Amino acid sequence: MEKLTNRSVAVNRSPMTFGERIYLPAIAKGLTITLSHIFKKKATVNYPEQKRPFSPVFRGLHVLNRDEEGRERCTACGLCALACPAEAITMEAAERKPGEENLYREEKYAAKYEINMLRCIFCGYCEEACPKDAVYLSETVMPSNYTRKSFIYKKEDLLIPHPKAQDAK
Ligand code: SF4
Ligand code: SF4
Repeated sequence: MEKLTNRSVAVNRSPMTFGERIYLPAIAKGLTITLSHIFKKKATVNYPEQKRPFSPVFRGLHVLNRDEEGRERCTACGLCALACPAEAITMEAAERKPGEENLYREEKYAAKYEINMLRCIFCGYCEEACPKDAVYLSETVMPSNYTRKSFIYKKEDLLIPHPKAQDAK
């Protein structure tokens, strides 16, 4: 029969030698490999007790920022959603009403803002695209969870606490 590739190997069907039949040389060879690994530096760490230092360019969970007065910076311009290659960001814009100047910095704000963390690839494009310094990727590792729904982070989950609320603590 014609060979399909030149990678085929002929199987050795000759009878086993005495050494092969008692398996001892093969066992000794295996043990030597195992023993040689005992004294090598471990490639693993005892997580979570032991943690590896993160890279200085590590990008973790998103945060929605406030200004110095505690007002939401996001103006729901949609540039982060447009820049997102994974289409992970959705939002709904709303207009600021009179009397809400202490809550939202601009006339428009995000009434809803969601990031689907199952889609996100933590590329940081949203942070780069934002003209208002409103979204950035923190150093917090995204926690694991059991349901798909819990990976949809809403505005309330992403927004940093109001500075006055922190002072009151
Ligand atoms: S980090 Fe990248 S993938 Fe994740 S939401 Fe931002 S732009 Fe989209
Ligand atoms: S986070 Fe920044 S880029 Fe995204 S909608 Fe808000 S202001 Fe625009």
